[in-house]
Amino acid sequence: MTTTAAPRRSAPRSAGPPLRWIRRFTEGSADQRFLLGGKGANLAEMTRMGLPVPPGFTITTEACLAYLKTGGFPDGLLDELRVVVAELEEEMELAFGAVGAPLLFSVRSGAAFSMPGMMDTVLNLGLSRDSLKGLAARTGDPWFAADAYRRLLELYAHIVLDVDEDVLHRAMRGVLDLYGAKDASALDLIGLQDLVGVLEVTIADQTGASFPADPWIQLEQAIAAVFRSWNGRRARDYRRVEGISDDLGTAVNVQVMVFGNAGIDSGTGVAFTRDPATGERQAVGDFLLNAQGEDVVAGVRNTEPLHQLATHFPDCAAQLHEVMERLEQHYLDMCDVEFTIQHGRLFMLQTRVGKRTALASLRMAVEMADEGLIDRATAVRRFRPDELERLLHPRFDPAADVQVLTKGLPASPGAASGRVVFDADRAEALANAGEDVLLVRTNTSPADFHGMVGAKGILTSRGGLVSHAAVVARGMGKPAVCGAEDLVIDWHGRYATINGVHIEPGDLLSIDGTTGEVVLGRVPVLPPAAPPELDRLLGWADELRRMAVFANADTAADAATARAAGAAGVGLCRTEHQFLGDRLHLVQAVILADDEAARRPALAALEEVQERDFVELLAAMDGLPVTVRLLDPPLHEFLPNVEELLVADARGELRGTERRLLEAALDWREVDPMLGIRGVRLGLLLPGLYATQVRALLRAAAARRRAGGDPRVRIMIPLVIGTGELSAAIALVREAAAAVTAEMGEEIPFEVGAMLETPRAALLAGELAPLVDFFSFGTNDLTQMTLGLSRDDVEARLMPYYLEHGLLAADPFRTLDASGVGELVRLAAEQTKQAAPSVELGVCGEHGGDPDSIAHFHRYGLDEVSCSPGRVLVARLAAAHAAFTEADADRDR
Ligand code: PEP
Ligand code: MG
Repeated sequence: MTTTAAPRRSAPRSAGPPLRWIRRFTEGSADQRFLLGGKGANLAEMTRMGLPVPPGFTITTEACLAYLKTGGFPDGLLDELRVVVAELEEEMELAFGAVGAPLLFSVRSGAAFSMPGMMDTVLNLGLSRDSLKGLAARTGDPWFAADAYRRLLELYAHIVLDVDEDVLHRAMRGVLDLYGAKDASALDLIGLQDLVGVLEVTIADQTGASFPADPWIQLEQAIAAVFRSWNGRRARDYRRVEGISDDLGTAVNVQVMVFGNAGIDSGTGVAFTRDPATGERQAVGDFLLNAQGEDVVAGVRNTEPLHQLATHFPDCAAQLHEVMERLEQHYLDMCDVEFTIQHGRLFMLQTRVGKRTALASLRMAVEMADEGLIDRATAVRRFRPDELERLLHPRFDPAADVQVLTKGLPASPGAASGRVVFDADRAEALANAGEDVLLVRTNTSPADFHGMVGAKGILTSRGGLVSHAAVVARGMGKPAVCGAEDLVIDWHGRYATINGVHIEPGDLLSIDGTTGEVVLGRVPVLPPAAPPELDRLLGWADELRRMAVFANADTAADAATARAAGAAGVGLCRTEHQFLGDRLHLVQAVILADDEAARRPALAALEEVQERDFVELLAAMDGLPVTVRLLDPPLHEFLPNVEELLVADARGELRGTERRLLEAALDWREVDPMLGIRGVRLGLLLPGLYATQVRALLRAAAARRRAGGDPRVRIMIPLVIGTGELSAAIALVREAAAAVTAEMGEEIPFEVGAMLETPRAALLAGELAPLVDFFSFGTNDLTQMTLGLSRDDVEARLMPYYLEHGLLAADPFRTLDASGVGELVRLAAEQTKQAAPSVELGVCGEHGGDPDSIAHFHRYGLDEVSCSPGRVLVARLAAAHAAFTEADADRDR
C-alpha cells in the first residue's frame, strides 16, 4: 500500500522567482541567521549541501518585524505564500487542503538565537476532518490518520489558539480514563475518534469558534502566532537576561511533513556528532521507533541509544553517520541533528552547532585542532574562560536533592560541606582533628585567619566580594559565600538561624561559592576535573596573548601553586599576612612602644621572621619578579576589637598588656579606617615599619643570591596620592636599601613602584611615573574610592538592589566599571606611556582575574594582570580572548 508521501527528489530544485518576505530552503545559507533564524539558515545550508531535507521555506524575520509593527501581515506576504505552497504541491504531487492527497506542513519558530519561550512546533498543519479520510485511504492506516489529526488539534489548540493547557489536559484525561489508556497511543481507533471529538468541542468552547478546516486559515493563524510569540513574556524575559536585542524578530519555518510514526519501518531521533557530555569523538543520540519528534522529548516511551539504529535500519544508520560526518566537516564543529525515518528513508529536520559541557568543549577544541579540522587559534577561541572556571572548581553533584536555605554572594568559587563552627580557634582544632568544618561568621578579620586555613569553606552574613573573608578565601582557593543576610548568628556565637532553620555548632551545612547557595546537610561534591588537554590549550593561548599573567601570592606555598599554574611572577605580595598568627604580638609590641628605642627590639624580631618568609617566597619564584607591597592596612586590624576590650574592662578583667592594647586601640581608632592612616601614610608616620620590611626583603634576596638563586625583587608602595609623598616613601626605601648594601658589601638590585589606587594618583600618573619603575592599579581601592562605595559594607545590601533595578550594569567590585574606574585606568596608562614609556603597567585588584575586566585591561594597553593563584589559568585564557576581541574589533572597523 502506498503510504505517506515523500519528496520526489533529494537534490534541491532550482529556485522560483525571488520573493520579498520568503526564502525557499533552496535559497538561503547558514550565514543568514539574522534573516532566516538559526533553524531556517541551517535548513537552507543542509539543503544546499544536498542532504535529505524535506522541502520547505522560511518566512523571514523582516516579515515578523513588519507584522509586529502593524499587527497585520505585510503586503505581498500572503501572495508569496501561495506561490511557494504551489511549488511544493507540484514537487510533492499533493495538494494543500485536498481531500484525497493532502499536503501537510510542520510550522516552527526560529530566531537568530535559540530562545526558550518561543512558539513550539505545530505538526500536520493542513489536515481537516475531510482530508483526514484521504490520508487514511492513502496510507491504509485510519488510526495513523486519526492520530495525526489528534496531534494537530492538540498542538494547534495550545500553541496557536492559546487554549489553557490545564483545560485541554483535563478534557483529554476524561477520554483516556474512560478507555483506561495511559496516553493517546494506547487508544484504539474508536477511542482516538472520541478524543478528536472532545478536542474539537474544547476548542469551540474555549475560543468561541470551531477549529478552522480551511488549511490556509490554519497556516496564516500559525504564522501569526509564531510572530506574536516573539513578544511573549518568557521570550522577552529571556532576551533581557541574555542581552539579546528585542529588534531581531523571529522567522517561521514551514516544511513538508515526514512521518516517523508511519509504522515500524519509521522512527525519529536526535543525535550529536560527538559526545556533548565528554567530548569523545563518537556520535551519540537517542531514537524511537514509530514515533514523532515530540514523543522523544516527552519521554513517554523509552528511547533506544543511537548505536542500535543500525540493527533496525542499517542503511539509514550508515547514511546518518555519513551525513553527520559531512556536517562536522562543513560546520567545522560538533553539530546536533534531528532526523526522521519514514518508511526506511532518512530525512534531516534540523541541525545546529551543538551545546556541550565545559569538559566536552575543551576536549573537542583540542582534538579538532589535532585532527586539523580547525587551527589552534580557533581552538582557543572555542573554549571560553567561564567554561574553564566551571571546570576548575568542585561543585555540588547536580543529581543531589538539596534544600537551599538561602543565597549569599558567590565570593569564592567551589563547593564545600562541613560541620558548622562559629569560632576560628575551634575551626582550627576540629580541622586538625580531621573534621570537615565550615567557618560561619558574621564577617572575618585577620584574627580569624588560622580558622580559615583549617576550614573547608567560609560563610559570612556580612561583607561583599572584596571583604576580608572573600579576598582571603579566594587567595586560598577555598569556597566562600559572603553577605548571606538571612544568616543570623547569635551574639554569643552559640547558634544561628537561616530563614527560620535553627543551626547549632556541629550541624552539617554546604555552600556553593560559585552560585552563592547555602544548603542544609552534606551535599555530595564532585571534584574539579582538569583534563590533560588543558595544558596544551593554555600553551596555545599563551602564544596568542600579549599581557603577562602574575599572581597575588602572600606565601611561598601560594607562589608555588601560582607558578605551577603558569604565573610569570608575583604581582602582589600582601605583607600584612606576615604579621598575623603568632607574629601578631610582635606587631602589637611595635604599636605599643612609646618611642623608637622601645620599638627597635620588636622591629628587629619582625625583621627576622619576615626575612625567612621572603627567602622562601623568592625561592618559590626564583628567576621571576616578586612584587612585595609594603604594609597597607590600618593598624587597628592588628589590635583587638575595641568593643570587646571595653566590655572586659567594664567587668574589671583587663590586665597590664591588655589594658595598654585597649589604650592603643582607642588611640588608633578611626571613624573611617579605609580612608585613614593606612598604606604609605602609615609608612611615613612609622618609618621603622617600612625600613624593616625593605631590609628583611633585601637581606633575603642577598641570601638567595649567595645560595645561587636568582631573586627578582620589586618593592611596591601602596595608596599614594602625590609626588611629594611618593618621593618621601621612595627615599625611605632607598635609605634602608643603602644600609643593607653597606652591611652586605654588595648592592642588591630591585625595582620600585607604586600602586595606583586613589583617583588622584590615577589622574596624576604622568607626574608620578618618572619616579618609579612600575605601576600596579589597585582596582579594589580605586573602585571603592571612585564610586564612593565601601568595599566592605555595600555589596551585600546595596548591590542586589542596584543590579536588580539596573542602577549599575554589573557589580563593580567583580567586573571593572569600565565607564568610571576604567576611564581612570585608561587615562593613567596613557599619561604614563607619554611621560615614562619604560614604566611597566599592571593591575593587582580582584579584577585582574575577571575575564571581562581582563578584556578592558588589554584594551588600555596594560602589560600584566595579577590575580589569585586559583585564577591564573583562567586569566591566561582570558588574556588570549582579550587579544581576539581586540583583533575582531579592528577587523570590524
Ligand atoms: C587593591 O586595592 O586593588 C589592592 C590590590 O589592594 P588591597 O585589596 O589589599 O587593598
Ligand atoms: Mg588597595
